[in-house]
Amino acid sequence: MSYAAFYQQSIQNPSAFWDEQARLIDWHKPYQQVLDTSQPPFAKWFVGGETNLCYNAVDRWVATQPDKAALIAISTETNTEKVYSFAELHQEVQRMAAIMLSLGVQRGDRVLIYMPMIAEAAFAMLACARIGAVHSVVFGGFASKSLATRIDDAKPVLVVSADAGMRGGKAVPYKPLLNDAIELAEHKPAHVLIVNRGLDAMTLVAGRDVDYAALRAQHMQTPVPVTWLESNEMSYVLYTSGTTGKPKGVQRDVGGYAVALAASMKHIYCGNAGETYFATSDIGWVVGHSYIVYGPLIAGMATIMYEGTPIRPDAGIWWSIVEKYKVTRMFSAPTAIRVLKKHPPELMKKYDLSSLKALYLAGEPLDETTSSWIATELGVPIIDNYWQTETGWPILSVARAIENTPTRLGSPGVAMYGYNVQIINEMTGAECGPNEKGVVAIRGPLPPGCMQTVYGDDQRFVSTYWANFAHEQLYSTFDWGIKDEDGYYFILGRTDDVINVAGHRLGTREIEESISSHPQISEVAVVGVEDKLKGQVAVAFATLKHPDAATTPEQKQALEAEVMAVVDKQLGAVARPSRVYFVGMLPKTRSGKLLRRSIQAICEGRDAGDLTTIEDPHSLAQIKDVVGQKV
Ligand code: ATP
Ligand code: MG
Repeated sequence: MSYAAFYQQSIQNPSAFWDEQARLIDWHKPYQQVLDTSQPPFAKWFVGGETNLCYNAVDRWVATQPDKAALIAISTETNTEKVYSFAELHQEVQRMAAIMLSLGVQRGDRVLIYMPMIAEAAFAMLACARIGAVHSVVFGGFASKSLATRIDDAKPVLVVSADAGMRGGKAVPYKPLLNDAIELAEHKPAHVLIVNRGLDAMTLVAGRDVDYAALRAQHMQTPVPVTWLESNEMSYVLYTSGTTGKPKGVQRDVGGYAVALAASMKHIYCGNAGETYFATSDIGWVVGHSYIVYGPLIAGMATIMYEGTPIRPDAGIWWSIVEKYKVTRMFSAPTAIRVLKKHPPELMKKYDLSSLKALYLAGEPLDETTSSWIATELGVPIIDNYWQTETGWPILSVARAIENTPTRLGSPGVAMYGYNVQIINEMTGAECGPNEKGVVAIRGPLPPGCMQTVYGDDQRFVSTYWANFAHEQLYSTFDWGIKDEDGYYFILGRTDDVINVAGHRLGTREIEESISSHPQISEVAVVGVEDKLKGQVAVAFATLKHPDAATTPEQKQALEAEVMAVVDKQLGAVARPSRVYFVGMLPKTRSGKLLRRSIQAICEGRDAGDLTTIEDPHSLAQIKDVVGQKV
């Protein structure tokens, strides 16, 4: 079948389409209705059906391939490596589930998971799924205040954590931050379950904190049967990355999510049972939920959980893992590839990468230079995919298992089945024509796997996502984009990253693209800065491919003028940044997203805001330095 026909089926008859896809998972009780849209924009999938995420990820594979690898936990920080077979994973998950039950966790209760990338984090997620508890994983990089906000929103009865994580050879304490967060929060969890890795000395709070190893020893053989859940019960809450404003608790279901992941593993990621999948993300992000823990396991694949950086002990580490475990599908982010690009490619060539079939990248725009570089070095297709915490799986990509759709540089691909993607004119609400810029929107109902609502706030779900265009059931992604004549989309930045220069609305991304085309520029961030005359002006911060090329003020000035000339030529003088500053690095979140709002705040003399997920605080100091603000 052609992909176009496959896609059309999914849009014209979603019930029939998803009924077919639902066979990819095991159901305890069949559903009565595939799709209920009686209360738009809310959509219910597989109504009345009963299933379980843990059952589909673990138990059903214990029956057919108990000894195949399921979870491969690798830490280049502690130099440990352990392979859990499906049978072993099944046991560990039951032990964790038994501990949770012994601590009073019940179906529907929230369990907050604040953990480094260790196997126990996956056990905890799967254990929650098994007993019908709702997990809320909070990224380990978040500090006390952000954690406290999430504790107050999710109101967990239990927090699962560890003494510490490790990064770049140094212990990163978790427990003290958690203690502070619980102190700060109004809601107090009844218990804290601590995995003590012996990395950081800590004390347990009597009556509240319990030790995982001690409890595990008591539950080595306690069987914990699967709790069958109605398809629309809650599986988890995950807060969006927080690149912009206040984090939203994305709430997900059980059945729809399981089906969506199984389908994406088959059609988009082309994974087969018995193979190994390696996603380099973190369980704190949506990629970690969908494509480290649930997706690969639901597909019967072994999944790699990696604690460490891409360049320790050297930049060949990921490729040595690909060789050792015969990884067939790998998933990473452009930012990680840019990091690797700074290291000698010989480190990659040292390893046998013949098992690898494709590399998937997501999370931020994939620039052409990075994409071409890694494609040449690896010799496998590089597949961009565009999606959000809210959707749980790709909105745009190519579904290679259906048809060998070619990729196009600079485009994350075409609309994935189930998503009625439209480019909407933000003023009129009408659909844009080919190559006309508008907001990337999805006509409801959203396909299975997407968020059900904002946790505890249906109103916020409706008003945030569905009320941006008059009278339409349109979900806004808050990203700008265009669609070309052939159905390929191009993402042009976030709608909240728009700069308004003297009445002209410009996307920061477009200006960045233009500046990046200058051969000297490595990376660039453009922000809108308040200006008395024009309302806003664009200001650019760039890193150089060869920092030595512009060290003197004269050289910098000359380069700045060249960059401005490029923008003038490509976009017009109105888009020309008022200043182009050269810095050693740009501020990013640990998930690799540019912190434009913090740069903007600094430029406008405001506080840089919540910086708990920043990769390297020195980057902000550099910005302050060049714009002449006191550090
Ligand atoms: P918040 O919503 O809290 O501000 P966030 O949007 O950064 O945080 P995520 O859900 O992790 O949180 O990121 C989704 C966003 O990342 C998309 O809306 C888009 O802006 C960007 N993005 C993801 N994948 C791609 C891609 N392949 N190409 C371009 N942009 C992408
Ligand atoms: Mg977002």
